[in-house]
Amino acid sequence: MKKLILLFGIIMCVIACKSNTDTSPSTTPTTSGTTYDITVIKDKFYSSSSFSSTATATIEGNYLVIKTNGTPDHKSPYYSSSDSRYEVYNGSNTSFKAAPNTIATQNLTFRIPLNPKEASSKSSTPMGPIGVSLNGIPFFNQYAAGGAKLSGEINGFDQYGGHPQMQGQYHYHVEPLNLTAKKGTDAFLGVLLDGFPVYGPKENGALVKESDLDAYHGHTAKTAEFPNGIYHYHITSTDPYLNGSGFFGTAGTVSQ
Ligand SMILES: [Zn+2]
Ligand SMILES: [Zn+2]
Repeated sequence: MKKLILLFGIIMCVIACKSNTDTSPSTTPTTSGTTYDITVIKDKFYSSSSFSSTATATIEGNYLVIKTNGTPDHKSPYYSSSDSRYEVYNGSNTSFKAAPNTIATQNLTFRIPLNPKEASSKSSTPMGPIGVSLNGIPFFNQYAAGGAKLSGEINGFDQYGGHPQMQGQYHYHVEPLNLTAKKGTDAFLGVLLDGFPVYGPKENGALVKESDLDAYHGHTAKTAEFPNGIYHYHITSTDPYLNGSGFFGTAGTVSQ
């Protein structure tokens, strides 16, 4: 009888141990369903008193809140010619043609999810701000007004890659050249409204190829700020430049 009880005990233990290993979670992380934490990027946003440009980042509940007056921390032919921040166009585009707009101070508040994850159904990006750079300038998507290609508008981009729209809101559709000159072409440059970070055109010393990126213009890889890997967008030199067919995650909001 004692032997029987012992045998029964051994069998129960074997069953319990087996089922225990079967239900333990997989140790291989998968992209879909992964929730990230972007708290680490909060302190990367900066203001420049000499240029009166502001970008402040705080955490409010589950949101990273970035407030900015939207004026660039670099010179531009789009500052009023009487402004000390004015600089005549000196870039490399021989077809440059200034648009008749002047940079105006904004009052922008971005509320960005602190714990982004892939959206089960993706949304296209709106016209207007779709994200914000470290120097507090809105990122816009790959379209000009009316959903037209940027090919015409691109000749109005100043020597730092930005321009103001009709209401004077300065923005980047392409690489923010002053920022990559300062921080590096592989650097963390900002974040889109869905909470996924934006990096420059290079990674691991080489230009990122369009074929390395998915339909949303991003991929999952390790970065300096996220050594365990995170989904992120790259700004490249060819259309669609920053975002492809929409947000990878679920967009927060921007008020202006
Ligand atoms: Zn534009
Ligand atoms: Zn990457």
